[in-house]
Amino acid sequence: MAKEKQEYCSFCGRPKAETELLISGMEAKICNYCIEQAKDILDEERKPKSKEVKIDHTILKPSKIKSFLDEYVIGQEDAKKVLSVAVYNHYKRIGRPVDADDVEIEKSNIILVGDTGTGKTLLARTIARMLHVPFAIADATVLTEAGYVGEDVESILTRLLQAADYDVAAAERGIIFIDEIDKIARKSDNPSITRDVSGEGVQQAMLKLLEGSIVNVPPQGGRKHPEQKMIAINTKNILFIAGGAFQGIERIIAARMRTNVVGYTFSGHKDENIDKENLLEYISPADLKKFGLIPELVGRLPLLTYLNPLDEDALKRILLEPKNALIKQFVKLFELDNIKLSFDDKVYDFIVEKSVEYKLGARGLRSILEAVLMDDMFHLPSEATTDELRITLKYAKQKFGKANLSKLKVAG
Ligand code: ADP
Repeated sequence: MAKEKQEYCSFCGRPKAETELLISGMEAKICNYCIEQAKDILDEERKPKSKEVKIDHTILKPSKIKSFLDEYVIGQEDAKKVLSVAVYNHYKRIGRPVDADDVEIEKSNIILVGDTGTGKTLLARTIARMLHVPFAIADATVLTEAGYVGEDVESILTRLLQAADYDVAAAERGIIFIDEIDKIARKSDNPSITRDVSGEGVQQAMLKLLEGSIVNVPPQGGRKHPEQKMIAINTKNILFIAGGAFQGIERIIAARMRTNVVGYTFSGHKDENIDKENLLEYISPADLKKFGLIPELVGRLPLLTYLNPLDEDALKRILLEPKNALIKQFVKLFELDNIKLSFDDKVYDFIVEKSVEYKLGARGLRSILEAVLMDDMFHLPSEATTDELRITLKYAKQKFGKANLSKLKVAG
């Protein structure tokens, strides 16, 4: 009988005494715990389903992709073209409905070969920016085989997951740039190491990521959190772009071409038509294998393209032309302090010359510009005696001369 008087939550059965609040409805009662749980369910239901996140296919035509890249990346026409088509095909492939007896289109990961600082990372980053997909950069040099000191290859996916704010479905359509892939080339002539921990082993471990499989990923990365719950990520639709300088690969290309020339004319190139200055444009998968990438890895990076070294003309354009060109950035920075910054034309040439002279490449442009403007950036905001700053060649030379060159670190 006593039980009849006691009030209970109609959902979980808790007696009123064990609740903070019990709300009565027409024929039922609900406690604070069930209200909170119901709210969670409601929030979950209301969340936009990540799988429904649509990529805007209207902007994805290869020529549009290329125009977008043109706004940020100077030159590198071949690489841009290959990337535009690859990305178009990739997202077209993901976007189409899956049909059981349909032809399965395999994905095409990409490998970019070119000197450091020629725009490989920039290209990958710009593509990701355009598509609004999660983007992560991984450095191949820190990876080792599981069980050795260093990072497991799965950590690459952890980065992407973090970039996607742990939205697994978004990460599964993301782009990963693997930098310095050439540094994990097989070192077959290293006699002291019985197992090639950082070379071939890593390449082997990477295969499963590249081809598309379900990988268990530690959400916090590393091996420091052994208790963490793994998150399963399917890499089937993740686009991998690998990049590397492959120092010395020109020799391999030249040797292959010479061999081919003997007795045959190789694929239509007459010797005199070969641009000996930039042999990279003739690079083939065979050269990558010879360099020390295992054939399976080369096979999983089927699109191979190259980046040209940047000459003075290209460097000057980089300084001035991209949407977020360095000069534009610094003008903006000063503008925020209400100072109109401008340069004599010759200053641009001076910055480019110094960057070439100190072999700093495109990354050096910023360091040199910082050196030239450092004093003004320090003084002007507090001593607002002028609202205009004109940088002449003489002034640039003087400021640059005073800067400690060893400090001209090239930012990674
Ligand atoms: P890497 O080839 O080593 O990946 P990055 O893409 O990181 O080189 O280039 C370093 C920096 O140099 C970029 O952030 C960008 O400011 C500049 N840069 C390099 N190449 C280009 C280019 N072709 N067009 C515009 N900027 C470039």
